[in-house]
Amino acid sequence: MAERFEAAYLRLLRSGELKRRVARAFARLEACDICARECGVNRHLSAEGAGCRTGLRAVVSSAGPHFGEERPLVGRGGSGTIFFSWCNLRCQFCQNAEISQLGYGREVEAEDLAQMMLGLQAQGCHNINLVSPSHVVPQILAGLLLAAEAGLHLPLVYNTGGYDSLKTLALLDGVVDIYMPDMKYADEEVARRFSGVRDYPAVNQAAVKEMHQVGDLVTDERGVAQRGLLVRHLVLPEGLAGTAKIVRFLREECSPQTYINVMAQYRPCYRAYELPPLDRPVTAQEYQEAVRLAQEAGLRLDDRRPRLLWAWR
Ligand code: SF4
Repeated sequence: MAERFEAAYLRLLRSGELKRRVARAFARLEACDICARECGVNRHLSAEGAGCRTGLRAVVSSAGPHFGEERPLVGRGGSGTIFFSWCNLRCQFCQNAEISQLGYGREVEAEDLAQMMLGLQAQGCHNINLVSPSHVVPQILAGLLLAAEAGLHLPLVYNTGGYDSLKTLALLDGVVDIYMPDMKYADEEVARRFSGVRDYPAVNQAAVKEMHQVGDLVTDERGVAQRGLLVRHLVLPEGLAGTAKIVRFLREECSPQTYINVMAQYRPCYRAYELPPLDRPVTAQEYQEAVRLAQEAGLRLDDRRPRLLWAWR
């Protein structure tokens, strides 16, 4: 008989370790190194100097069931998303710039976050999907502790832009069941130009390798994700996303069984209109080439790839 699934953090809750992780995470906000930017500012005092522009409280733009995520996350009940405002990256083509760069949303306490998580569970969602969590891990852990004490049992999805610190991923070891990192670029200069962090490729690859501690993606008999790694890779015009290097990294450094969503939906947003070649969508050929590379690497491709490919030009 299949083993009954239990969200990872429940074991840490019982041992008291989850509470200790909250304290350790908040202590690190005094000279913040929660994400790979390592700003060193004291977020207990203010958000001044913080690359993520976030102080002691997390800011949330929205929370609710989401049906547009990858099929293993959505199932029938939807993915229970909590969108955090602000971001530790500066992607010039961000589709959610009002949230990530202008900070639309409201400050929340740990109790508010716990209520959101429990509310999503009560609505029948299959997981708690933390969108843009990298800069608010202490606040998430505090909310999770309260929610778990009150009966939360859904797996956590860490849905990140992929610029994460290994030290913080250690805090999440045994807490997160499903990691869903972006792999945006393989080239330092492209990363600097379009997301403001030159070391993105090295940081991102080290982080994804560490996230693979949860193994390849495992689903239950309904096809709903329980645990594992799911990578998102947005195809950019003129091969800027470095697909060939990224799929080779996944095959050789993580696992040939890595689940990957090669995404076709790039459209110019935010400042991309001033930054050719990001001022146009990807072509059908560019997308097909990225899919071909992932297939050749033997990776597990998300099956919701667009069937109708558009012609650009
Ligand atoms: S979370 Fe990252 S961006 Fe924000 S202050 Fe800390 S190190 Fe800087």
